[in-house]
Amino acid sequence: MIESVLIKQVQMITPFGKKEGDVLIKNGKIHAMDWKLPEHAEVIIRDRGLTLMPGVIDPHVHFREPGATWKETLETGSRAAVSGGVTTFFEMPNTKPSAICRKTIAEKKKIASQTSMANYNFYIGATTDNLEELKAIENVPGIKIFVGSSTGSLLVDQEEDLRRIFTETTALIAVHSEMESIIRANKDIYKDSTNPLDHPRIRSVDAAVKCTKMLLNLSHETQRRLHILHLTTEEEMQLIAKAKKDTPVTTEVSPQHLLLHGPEVYLKLGNFAVINPPIREKRHADALWQGLKSNVIDCIATDHAPHTIEEKQLEYGKAPSGMPGIETSLSLMLNLVAQKKCSLDDVVKWMCETPAKLFGIPYKGALQIGYDADLVLVDLNAKRTIENAKQHTKCKWSAFDGWEVQGVPIATMVGGKLAYREGEFFTATKGSEVKIRKPKPKA
Ligand SMILES: [Zn+2]
Repeated sequence: MIESVLIKQVQMITPFGKKEGDVLIKNGKIHAMDWKLPEHAEVIIRDRGLTLMPGVIDPHVHFREPGATWKETLETGSRAAVSGGVTTFFEMPNTKPSAICRKTIAEKKKIASQTSMANYNFYIGATTDNLEELKAIENVPGIKIFVGSSTGSLLVDQEEDLRRIFTETTALIAVHSEMESIIRANKDIYKDSTNPLDHPRIRSVDAAVKCTKMLLNLSHETQRRLHILHLTTEEEMQLIAKAKKDTPVTTEVSPQHLLLHGPEVYLKLGNFAVINPPIREKRHADALWQGLKSNVIDCIATDHAPHTIEEKQLEYGKAPSGMPGIETSLSLMLNLVAQKKCSLDDVVKWMCETPAKLFGIPYKGALQIGYDADLVLVDLNAKRTIENAKQHTKCKWSAFDGWEVQGVPIATMVGGKLAYREGEFFTATKGSEVKIRKPKPKA
């Protein structure tokens, strides 16, 4: 077993600024970072001109196992992850059976311990009658609540049920925020529609805004940590900007909601662009970008939600909602660095440092001595074209097919071991369960 690795002459993105030099990894941790380290290591990687950054933490993915393994598995999803520079993921509970109790969470952790190439942990889902499980669960990134039903029976849309979860549990509360009653009423209006352009009309701005307002009030009243998942509207961004003064709220945005917009994306991709909450008009994408730049939006999450090409080819209304994204997110963000729309420090903050802080993950998300050696080497000058056939996700497509991006993950290390390098996987490398710091009890 290899216990020491020396990475020579790279640009390092550290919390204290850019630094040029060598990095020594020992027993899975960053042991030393210096201008020139002596060459005493079992493996020496020399990659002049490359940049070393912390591995990406993607706090919102769907890997479909157990229950829908024809779409993705923890193995295939985690391979896609490491190929894209993602070393840690948090997976959502809408698998089959739903991950709503200690037993189902333990089963997912067991599968991941055997097959996942990246570090992992799993949200527990809230239902209207699993409060005892939500109170008893340990070491999960949070409690996921679908207020808008995206998927099946995991729906909690009555305010009194929500209030109980807010007042009686302690884990972070993460919510898919769309008001179910408004979506149902809109579905009646568009019930025979086979037009994907109707998707953002059914899942309207109003449905998202009203739900987020209600959640912000609950969080303010109870002073309970709230994380709004995949933000999509300008109006919610403004509400959260105001609320942040006195409400413990954070939020995330996906690359697809930042970079794609209607109606163009629906005309080009049809149902392949259909996700929940929906991709909306350009004014929302622009506002989300401003929100991210001004720290109203805290981090990037992909909401990687693969479905097969055949499933997405069904007509609108029958095709499932969701798109993959875990292996393209870092490249797409690095491309924005190449276009000078943001800095590399911004990308590290949005994709590594802030997710680690926000979810209470010790020793991850930064290049610092003593931290876990979850690392990605990127070539900021390399260009590549995103292509469906080259995707590592089991579903083999991307909404960004045909996009040329500058900024490519070259190699990914998980716990000090090489997991991926330039198209090759080192499958003996396995991730481990991510420890989550317990939230501080209220004073
Ligand atoms: Zn999701």
